[in-house]
Amino acid sequence: MSPLNRRSVLLGLGAATLTACATQRLPAAPAAAPQTFPKVLARRERITRTVVGLRPFRPQGFRLEAERFGEKTVIHNYGHGGCGVTLSWGTSQRAATMAGEAGRFDVAVLGGGVMGLTSALLLARRGHAVTVYAEAMHPNTTSNIAGALWLPASLYDRDVATQEFLDLNWHVTREAHRGFLPYVNRPGYGVSWVRHSETSNRVRDPRFALPGGDDLYPDLQILTAQTRFGFPYEERYHTLMIDPDYYLDQLMRDAQLAGARFISQRFETLDDVLALAQPVIVNCTGLGAGKLFGDETIMPIRGQLTHLLPQPEIDYSYTTYIDGSLYMFPRKTGLVLGGSHGRGNWSLDVSEEELTRMIDGHAALAERAAFATHPA
Ligand SMILES: Cc1cc2nc3c(=O)[nH]c(=O)nc-3n(C[C@H](O)[C@H](O)[C@H](O)COP(=O)(O)OP(=O)(O)OC[C@H]3O[C@@H](n4cnc5c(N)ncnc54)[C@H](O)[C@@H]3O)c2cc1C
Repeated sequence: MSPLNRRSVLLGLGAATLTACATQRLPAAPAAAPQTFPKVLARRERITRTVVGLRPFRPQGFRLEAERFGEKTVIHNYGHGGCGVTLSWGTSQRAATMAGEAGRFDVAVLGGGVMGLTSALLLARRGHAVTVYAEAMHPNTTSNIAGALWLPASLYDRDVATQEFLDLNWHVTREAHRGFLPYVNRPGYGVSWVRHSETSNRVRDPRFALPGGDDLYPDLQILTAQTRFGFPYEERYHTLMIDPDYYLDQLMRDAQLAGARFISQRFETLDDVLALAQPVIVNCTGLGAGKLFGDETIMPIRGQLTHLLPQPEIDYSYTTYIDGSLYMFPRKTGLVLGGSHGRGNWSLDVSEEELTRMIDGHAALAERAAFATHPA
């Protein structure tokens, strides 16, 4: 794969060096007919709610591995930062396979967020007797707060993650994407395609493909002119919009139909966990894993989302940067404005300052021309 060559052409940097193979990978040229981007009405009187959640972040990336405690096997599946919904099918499929390899019938799943529900569903469908234990269940988990765009982002620190992790993550990302495809436009699941723009003040290094490979982002265009909001650089493609209010509801129902049982329980210590009857335990406790399993590397990245009244005409999303990052995701139930990342911040209180930044920032973006050529 050679995204370097592809992007070199689009950026006008070295067409002569293209190989025939790389030429075949070129995405379609920028659309000839201008696309329309109706304005977001970012106004206080349109706010329906503002919510806060804590992304379970590990600088080295998610934890996906088996750990033995005497007779018990614990499969860890936590620490997915800002893209747990995105990666849920990928890491949960691997966690379910690891749990199956322990060769036991009864499996406990700790956690009722997207990771616990997906793991439980997969294990129940594979014939295990599954019991989900969690303090908070849908609709009261961090997963319910998520944006939730299918986008592998805010997952690890580049200077900390190992090459081994990056290789694993590449494959998991691809598996995760494949896991969502059967749900697109399935009635009641809240999963659909959206055309997404990611803009930047800096023209990005063309050697790097998008996470998991460019082919996961249909209709990919790299733009350095006629960009969204007039930024110097834009990656435009289609990705999946997942509405957690619908999606988690269905996932929980599917897990129950497959035979999973749900028990509301909080665990204070590792001994509490190991006292469970099941010999195999899949740990999907997100941030809770820090205390339960002594993981001192996991930390919160606080995020605040402001929901606005729906605008059915808005069929696009964006991630951009103007005095901090800002994103907008459209749902049937409303527009989601976000982009706050408070590393190490445990506060679940709504920040008025952040709310103002969201409304003012998105309103300012809406005032920019739909297309504008950035200054030379
Ligand atoms: C503002 C915001 C925006 C986001 N946007 C996106 C996005 O656009 N795309 C995306 O993919 N992701 C997004 N995320 C990230 C995503 O929400 C998380 O990565 C994901 O929810 C993690 O899922 P989880 O199942 O591991 O954890 P959680 O949803 O937190 O679930 C953990 C479960 O474990 C249980 N638990 C924990 N400790 C204990 C204990 N001691 N005893 C019993 N039960 C326990 C909890 O009660 C809960 O049921 C966003 C997050 C935030 C906050």
